[in-house]
Order: sequence, then structure tokens, then C-alpha cells
Amino acid sequence: MIDIHAHLCFGDYDKDMHEILARCRREMSAVIVGTARYDEGVKALELSRKNHGFVFPTLGYHPTEGGENPEKIMNLIKANSDRIVGVGEVGLDHHWEKDVSKQAKQQEIFSRFIELAKTIGKPLVIHSWDAENECFQMVKDAGVEAVFHCFSGSRELAKEITERGFYISVSTMVLFSKNIRKMSKDIPLDRMLLETDSPFLSPNKEQDPRNYPWNIKLSAAKIAELRGDSVENILRAAKENAIGVFGLKIT
Ligand SMILES: [Zn+2]
Repeated sequence: MIDIHAHLCFGDYDKDMHEILARCRREMSAVIVGTARYDEGVKALELSRKNHGFVFPTLGYHPTEGGENPEKIMNLIKANSDRIVGVGEVGLDHHWEKDVSKQAKQQEIFSRFIELAKTIGKPLVIHSWDAENECFQMVKDAGVEAVFHCFSGSRELAKEITERGFYISVSTMVLFSKNIRKMSKDIPLDRMLLETDSPFLSPNKEQDPRNYPWNIKLSAAKIAELRGDSVENILRAAKENAIGVFGLKIT
């Protein structure tokens, strides 16, 4: 199994990172550590150095929480383009940002990250909350690979995205959201990825507020049930897709 988006470099995991990684290694093939801020990116690079061939980083800039300085992150990406497997998360967020001029600013920054991803030949990991179609319009003819992380747009848009050859990443939200369930039913298996967005989206918040990479197994079981497929088949397809789109060299 491969979780394609876990924020393992959030402070939430500082205390027991060792145990968490040990369990990931027992149960999983690889973990892609997603980032959205400069410091988080630096930490993810370090973690991937220590866990070469198992932890793979993507560096990005959150549209509303990325901070003041996207250039600093762009430079970090350029300097580490051989180590990272994607650019993200980057994108647009119209859920938290309703101000039109600030949305335009998000768009301007996102377009620079799209160019950067194209230059270094890495896929984009896109954050698109309430701006799914806007993001799709910006990348569809950009000449880059794209993964729609934590996608929660419509089934119709999911169809367009996958027909265009991009990937939809289904999060552990599939365990509690009707919408995501409906959508995950008809995504072609060769365009589907799995993620937890850890520490967010815990499947059992009362017991443990944190999410963990191995919980994609629960998502796969739910998706298998919805599609009348086997868990193994869902996990195998999602893993192959992840290796393909991110060019993972697992050791
Ligand atoms: Zn994220």
C-alpha cells in the first residue's frame, strides 16, 4: 500500500515518529509526505533522506496557509528537484477564501507553481477545495501530470479529470462522506489513488484524533465494497498508479 498524501511532518507526530514509521514499514510499500509550508518542506526532505526509498516528499504551498513567501518554497523545490516526487500541495481554496482579489492572487501563485512543475518534470498535487473546476481549467492544457488530492468535486468533473488522464486521490473521507462514496464508485481504477491527508480526516476521531498512513486499508475496503471488487485489487491498482505517476523508486 502507498499513501500518496500524509503530513507526517506536522508536529503531531514528533513524539512517536519512530513507532509510526516502523509500523508504516511493516504494512506499507511507501509513504508520500505532502507539505504545504516552507518549514514542513525542509522537515520532509530530511525525513526522506533518513528513509531513502520509503518516504518520498512533495513540496508545496498552501493557497491560504502557505505564508508570505511562495518564492522561498519555489527555490527549495528547484534546489531539491532530484529528491522530490511532486509539486504540492498547491492550488486554489475558495472554501476559506471568498475575497475575489485574494482568489486572483491564489491563481497567480498557482500558475507559477504549474510552470515550475512543468520545468522540473514533476506531477502537481492539487489542493482544490471549492475550486475544483477552476483548478482543472488551469492545468488541463498546461502540459503537466496532475493529481487531485482529497478531491471532493462532482462526479461529472471527476469524469472529465480522469478522461484527461489525470488522477483522483480518494481520502479517508470515503469512510464518512456520502459524496465521496458516490464519486469513488465510478473513478476508473487506473486513475485512482489513495491518501489519508494525515493527521486530518481520522476515521475514528473519538478514539484517536490523528489519522495514519495505514488507514488507506480501511478506505480500500470501503471502496471495494461499493464497487463489488476486492480490497487487494483496489490496493494493488492504487499502488501501481502511485509508482507510475510519481516515478517512485522504492527500495
Ligand atoms: Zn494536505
